[in-house]
Amino acid sequence: MSYSRGKDVSSFESPGVRVGLNLGLMGGTFDPIHSGHLVVAEEVRIGFRLDRVTFIPSARPPHKPGRAVTCPEHRYAMALLATASNPHFDVSRVEIERPGLSYSIDTVRYFRDSDPDGKLFFITGADAISEILTWKDPAGLIEMCEFVTVARPGYNFDDLQNLKQKLGTGLVSKIHVFETTPVDISSTEIRRRLSQGVSVKYLVPDEVLEYIEKTGLYRT
Ligand code: ATP
Ligand code: MG
Repeated sequence: MSYSRGKDVSSFESPGVRVGLNLGLMGGTFDPIHSGHLVVAEEVRIGFRLDRVTFIPSARPPHKPGRAVTCPEHRYAMALLATASNPHFDVSRVEIERPGLSYSIDTVRYFRDSDPDGKLFFITGADAISEILTWKDPAGLIEMCEFVTVARPGYNFDDLQNLKQKLGTGLVSKIHVFETTPVDISSTEIRRRLSQGVSVKYLVPDEVLEYIEKTGLYRT
């Protein structure tokens, strides 16, 4: 496991010419996408010299049982609106189009096959990385990409020590803890505020707020 404070992680520059892209993958429910997601993606993009960060709204998240998730097309539309002004960001429909539960390993395999010379960086917050052992085939997943995990207010990295013991050192070395500007925003809090008629201005981009108001999402 490596820890980096600086904004320049040049160790991923491979010697010689490599044609593939350095691609960041930011998976999530994005219900709705918020400024926390965007700050993390942008700072990791710069720190790891990524060519692009692709946001991947999950269609049927395996980890969100019991809560009705907003329809994928709304979440996709909001992700598009939120990322439209950044030339290095895009949004993928891969999990929306794929039937069944949305497993990260299937998604990472898809991006690896799309650019076999590329290097993939799966970006998660501290809460998500703590749960990685409950994901489908975590070892296979980590083998295919680098993991960049960022701090999230209210969560710690204690479980990473657990991970160290359960994964071999080869895999653990692919998990990088990276410091980004802490932004204490969650979609849960945004949904809560909206259901009570409380402002979320600046917590989500204006375009996303306009979309939420136009569609009446999260009002109840
Ligand atoms: P919810 O409250 O519905 O779970 P969320 O805010 O956690 O929503 P997700 O779509 O679940 O958003 O998260 C997608 C990814 O972004 C996860 O890896 C999560 O850890 C990370 N993430 C979300 N918000 C933040 C934040 N404020 N700081 C750092 N990472 C974050
Ligand atoms: Mg979450």
